Amino acid sequence: MNNTKYFKGKNITVVGLARSGLACANLLHSLGACVRVTDINDNTQTRESAAGLSSKGIPVELGLHSEDFIRQAELVVISPGVPLCAQPVIWAKEFSRPLISEIELASMLCPAEIIAVSGSNGKTTVTTLIGKVLAESGKRVFVCGNIGNPFCAEVERIKQGDFVVLEVSSFQLETIRDFKPKIAVILNLTPNHLDRYNNMQEYLNAKKRIFINQDDNDYLVLNADDPFLDAASLGAKSKIVFFNKTGAFNPNQNAVMAVGKILGVKAEDMLGVFQKFKGIQHRMEEVAQINGVRFINDSKATTADSAIWAIKNIASPIILIAGGRHKGIAYSVILEAARNKVKKAFLIGEARDIIAAALEADLPVEKTDNLNIAVKKAYEQAAPGDCVLFSPMCSSYDMFKDYAQRGEAFKKMVLDLSKGARPHD
Ligand code: ADP
Repeated sequence: MNNTKYFKGKNITVVGLARSGLACANLLHSLGACVRVTDINDNTQTRESAAGLSSKGIPVELGLHSEDFIRQAELVVISPGVPLCAQPVIWAKEFSRPLISEIELASMLCPAEIIAVSGSNGKTTVTTLIGKVLAESGKRVFVCGNIGNPFCAEVERIKQGDFVVLEVSSFQLETIRDFKPKIAVILNLTPNHLDRYNNMQEYLNAKKRIFINQDDNDYLVLNADDPFLDAASLGAKSKIVFFNKTGAFNPNQNAVMAVGKILGVKAEDMLGVFQKFKGIQHRMEEVAQINGVRFINDSKATTADSAIWAIKNIASPIILIAGGRHKGIAYSVILEAARNKVKKAFLIGEARDIIAAALEADLPVEKTDNLNIAVKKAYEQAAPGDCVLFSPMCSSYDMFKDYAQRGEAFKKMVLDLSKGARPHD
């Protein structure tokens, strides 16, 4: 690893003790830094992590942020979930303490080339596929980042000549400084997170940070079909490669092909990976077929674009279940894809009225009280050959801990249905 000596003996405060904050603290401790951790949340998960760190002598404060933790730090590392308006960030600015993100920290220590994948939809799918394609071609590859495996947890094992495929969110990009991927991919840019950004330009500005440190030896891979990703106006210094111009596959696979080609992976190896790929949990995941009705768990679909993606990628008639916490997006954009394809939409959660208002002129809709009722009604009204698609278009936080818990709940409800299933008349 490069830069390891830089951290030895330094006073460093990590803000946020979720998965990546914990990985950061452990990494910095193993590099000999004097680490401290602060997290505003005092719950079972942070207490459990804090106990592990305390046993190594790392001071942790939970349920508050004290000014001293920042004032005494020579460097502040911020976890991806911490908003930039949080008090420690404000103090770091006030006391002129350098503030970096978890991926910045890991990349300072990373001797391998980084392929960074960002965009509004499809990041996890594409990151996973690039990892598989590189592994298939015999390369040693680490797949990490926002995908649920913190870069900081892996970086000590990474050697020169390896490859890192890193899923990065726009939140993580906001606090990068020297982060410089060899290949940066922006898959698409659609109205998403407009709860965090004031407008599309602000959102684009955050995404653009993925290539701000690139030079003409690096590559920026862009979607030719995305109107927001106009190469001329982006002002990148990197070599620009477009995907979707001639690609014969779906946009995610076309993006993977573009990256693979840059790295010299054979097309036949990539095709082999696509054929074997069964998808990822909660993303167009087939749950069961009950009396000819197929159930698809797409709980990760928290945007209208993801639902459009799902509708387009399902051949049969669809009964849609959607709803959750509203993220400020427009739902009527699904109507074009839904026409002649979606027979009915069952709507749940805080956003159900807003979604109903956007769809009901063109699509039969029914509001229900919860997901379980929606699943039962969707099954009752589905005909053999139909598909019940759970593509919520909203975040899960009104009813569930996260999208994964929501997806698990959906799957259990479907499996319960199958236990009591009776053939259609
Ligand atoms: P992300 O990591 O960007 O959230 P995922 O790969 O986890 O993306 O997929 C999230 C949701 O978006 C899933 O519902 C998936 O089916 C859908 N999806 C995948 N690829 C795309 C795409 N290129 N455009 C729109 N939706 C997509």
